[in-house]
Amino acid sequence: MLKNDQLDQWDRENFFHPSTHLAQHARGESPNRIVTGGSGAHIEDRDGNKLLDAFAGLYCVNVGYGRPEIADAIAAQAKELAYYHAYVGHGTEASITLSKMILDRAPKNMSKVYFGLGGSDANETNVKLIWYYNNILGRPEKKKIISRWRGYHGSGLMTGSLTGLELFHKKFDLPLAQVLHTEAPYYYRRDNLDQTEEQFVEHCVAKLEELIEREGADTIAAFIGEPILGTGGIVPPPEGYWAAIQKVLKKHDILLVADEVVTGFGRLGTMMGSDHYDIEPDLITIAKGLTSAYAPLSGSIVGDKMWKVFEQGTDEYGPIGHGWTYSAHPIGAAAGIANLKLIDDLNLVQNAGEVGSYLNAQMHAALDDHPHVGNIRGEGMMCAVEFVKDKDSRTFFDPSQKIGPQIAGALGQKKVIGRAMPQGDILGFAPPFCLTKQEADEVVSKTADVVNAMDFS
Ligand code: PMP
Repeated sequence: MLKNDQLDQWDRENFFHPSTHLAQHARGESPNRIVTGGSGAHIEDRDGNKLLDAFAGLYCVNVGYGRPEIADAIAAQAKELAYYHAYVGHGTEASITLSKMILDRAPKNMSKVYFGLGGSDANETNVKLIWYYNNILGRPEKKKIISRWRGYHGSGLMTGSLTGLELFHKKFDLPLAQVLHTEAPYYYRRDNLDQTEEQFVEHCVAKLEELIEREGADTIAAFIGEPILGTGGIVPPPEGYWAAIQKVLKKHDILLVADEVVTGFGRLGTMMGSDHYDIEPDLITIAKGLTSAYAPLSGSIVGDKMWKVFEQGTDEYGPIGHGWTYSAHPIGAAAGIANLKLIDDLNLVQNAGEVGSYLNAQMHAALDDHPHVGNIRGEGMMCAVEFVKDKDSRTFFDPSQKIGPQIAGALGQKKVIGRAMPQGDILGFAPPFCLTKQEADEVVSKTADVVNAMDFS
């Protein structure tokens, strides 16, 4: 085994880390963590630390670390057949079985699954499918996609554009022209503090209607949204939001993509986030929770309405020209099957709902009265604590104070991993579904200790 010093040096010299301050990392000014193992809700690092991972990696290791059932399924598949492609009608038992298992768990009126590797490429696929759909229907002008500010949909060219966070656009010449952004359903950060939740929903709808009117409904193909905003701050929508938005989309014949990369397969205590909010999507993006990140695999679940048009399209124009070498990779598919079975066998969707509610309730009890805790919110196994300078006037800290990152850092020192969300002083939690109540207590008590000890001045 390499010595820690050697590994640290090679890391600084050779490894281009995603979403990292590159210069500070290369100069050794920011800490690195070299992760060596994991079990249940915990990870271990090279320095001998054992940490409670209350963000499940990047909200993806949903069944927890170190599951032999999934590791064995991957090994068995690799020995039997590590790879064959899925072009021109090829498949494997694993990819076919997993398609069926996914559709069995999807909302009604869904027809087929297209497999990719990660959430970003699945959303790139979705945009292409949306354009393909409207081209087949003879509506070549109907191409623009609406997403929300603070939405997260990936970091490719198109998906980085759909992502409504400045950091992902800055210095990349994004967003691309076909992407439009509308108001985030973020009641706590509404401009008009006098608005009720109901009035705020009306405001979001009015903003959407305005945008559609300005651009012309015949130029807008689709709307994409996460059932609950994730990376943008873990923000559940206000009551009635999805019903009101869907009404507008239907009226203007605009497709709806539910990006369930985070919410798919149980995180909200329901199999899909769409079930939780009565969303009736035309396309669903899945990734992370599909394999609990034991292998890279994503999918686009295509609804009946689009599928019928695709069949008509290929009859007219020939095979669809879209494919990845690793679409439906058998090792990913084997991991997906084992993962979905484990979720069923251990009742993990139910546990995510129950322990998630407990975590949220305990966080409220511990921190609601703190003068700098402005908002605690969540749903299922997702929870966020938002810090403010002044609670009554709801004024925020200057980002240069880095309150969120400081709190997440101090929590890490106490061996609990939460995430400083990228925009605003928001501490996020999205633990594995196997979290116990005792572990939830530990997350809450250590968070409260850190927040109570924090110098907010
Ligand atoms: N959609 C959502 C809702 C996500 O949270 C993410 C990743 N955080 C993505 C898409 C992109 O997935 P990936 O990082 O696997 O490309």
